Amino acid sequence: MRSVLKGKTAIVTGASRGIGAAIAVKLAAEGAGVALVYAANAEAANAVCERCRSFGVKALSRQCDVSDFAAVQATVNTVHQEFGSVDLLVNNAGINRDKLLMMMKEADYDDVLAINLKGAFNMIRHVSGFMVRQRYGRIVNISSVAGLSGNAGQANYAASKAGLVGLTKSVARELASRNITCNAIAPGFIETDMTRKFSGDPKTLDVIPLKRVGRPEDVASLAAFLLSDEAAYITGEVIRVDGGIGM
Ligand code: NAP
Repeated sequence: MRSVLKGKTAIVTGASRGIGAAIAVKLAAEGAGVALVYAANAEAANAVCERCRSFGVKALSRQCDVSDFAAVQATVNTVHQEFGSVDLLVNNAGINRDKLLMMMKEADYDDVLAINLKGAFNMIRHVSGFMVRQRYGRIVNISSVAGLSGNAGQANYAASKAGLVGLTKSVARELASRNITCNAIAPGFIETDMTRKFSGDPKTLDVIPLKRVGRPEDVASLAAFLLSDEAAYITGEVIRVDGGIGM
């Protein structure tokens, strides 16, 4: 185990699967205690917790709908009680409800914005009090290349991910004087449950200069760096992890 994040406590949302699970495991491998937040998949979250504990760190999982302001407050308070601090936050929980705009139902739009964008606000809102008091914090929001370039069939998702960019930069400006950084990662096409149905499509690879889809670990390594003291002078940034799609 490396110890770059030793003694730090991280909250990772959407940590039961995919990118969030890879981030939780990477942070544990770097020595951080990890609180994993998930929506419904308790068994998967517990399995990720076990993998985190195998690095000798404390890990727990909590069911919490990130779009629920009061539930997020309760979860953050519990994590603070259990670990004694909250130093690192990764807002990764997200969903998609892809449809062409003309077919999109109001609930498709509202649900995606509530989880992807308001969920991140809720977490930052409740974590920031602890971070300000301890004069230390690192926040990473998982946006998407769709939020930077738009994507046909993803108006709701792209709006939520573009919103995260504005949220990231505003939080970075507001909290910089308290030694709190806030950055965003914009992944391209990463192989997870969210993208499984496209991953065998040869057209997907055509548009990726590196000619492979990304792995959750490709995102996790950047998240761990942005959460470390090595990235102490980086804030308000949006960094793509997309195999070159966006250049
Ligand atoms: P995924 O495999 O579908 O996993 C989604 C995770 O979010 C699960 O842990 C899920 O928990 C959790 N979640 C969903 N709704 C939630 C809620 N209301 N409250 C709390 N947790 C909730 O997704 P992924 O592909 O790893 O994506 C992770 C993030 O990266 C998302 O924000 C996504 O938009 C972003 N991203 C992904 C890609 C990609 O290509 N995969 C590209 C760009 C950006 P349960 O397991 O309990 O359901």
